[in-house]
Amino acid sequence: MTLQEKLYSLKKTDKAVLAANFYNFETLKGILEAAQSCNQPVILQLTQSSIDYMGLQNAVSMAKTGLDFYKVQGWIHLDHANNLELVEACLKSGFDSIMFDGSELPFDENIKLTKIAVKSAQKYNANVEAELGYVAKLGQDSGKVQFTQTNEAKVFVEETGINALAVAIGTVHGFYKSKPELNFERLSELNEALDIPLVMHGASGIPKEDVRKAVSLGICKVNIATEIKNTFILNVKKILSETDNIDLRTSFPVAIEAVKILIKDKFNYVN
Ligand SMILES: [Zn+2]
Repeated sequence: MTLQEKLYSLKKTDKAVLAANFYNFETLKGILEAAQSCNQPVILQLTQSSIDYMGLQNAVSMAKTGLDFYKVQGWIHLDHANNLELVEACLKSGFDSIMFDGSELPFDENIKLTKIAVKSAQKYNANVEAELGYVAKLGQDSGKVQFTQTNEAKVFVEETGINALAVAIGTVHGFYKSKPELNFERLSELNEALDIPLVMHGASGIPKEDVRKAVSLGICKVNIATEIKNTFILNVKKILSETDNIDLRTSFPVAIEAVKILIKDKFNYVN
């Protein structure tokens, strides 16, 4: 099943799939063990930084082999690409899905570049996600609010032919300084107006009941990144500070287990 088909079927049933970013073999292992043990599908996501870190072919091969090995239904997705060369390279190397993020560009420019990304992806029958509005990235001002405008979103989806839209409804990337207030009214409006599945970015730190409510209002893909990265490294730090053992084959499994527990819990958010 292609990711487009999966997302459309989820849209019909008000359900969502978890999209988890991985950063190395260990975080990938934690995610896949959780998916296997919960019998859940999962989207494995890579950002440009993670691709630069692991190497494109290494990262894709590792993800594909992992899905086969753990017998998990899954897809490989490029998260937040802001250049078309990266999109093309990822499609060529076997990604099932890409996100072109032109959300910081002027509206017309975002449409223009997203359209090119859609055209490239069609050659590979790959899924295309785009973003409208402002979901603060790590290090950006999380106090600034710019919700996705419904009318703008309608035009954007019609013009570009994307398969899924990341919406700004009050989430931010990274952790929250104060309790996040999601704009469910806007989400519901967007869900009514658009025929395509919607995506929630910045779900790390959003309470379970809020994510579930968002899923009931058209969110079909829930992204988790920061919490995975932080869980892994904080557990490595903790185990190294508690013991003199420096064998990575006995210290890393503790952190992998923590990632697994985190992801197992996150599956409850989308089901
Ligand atoms: Zn994101």
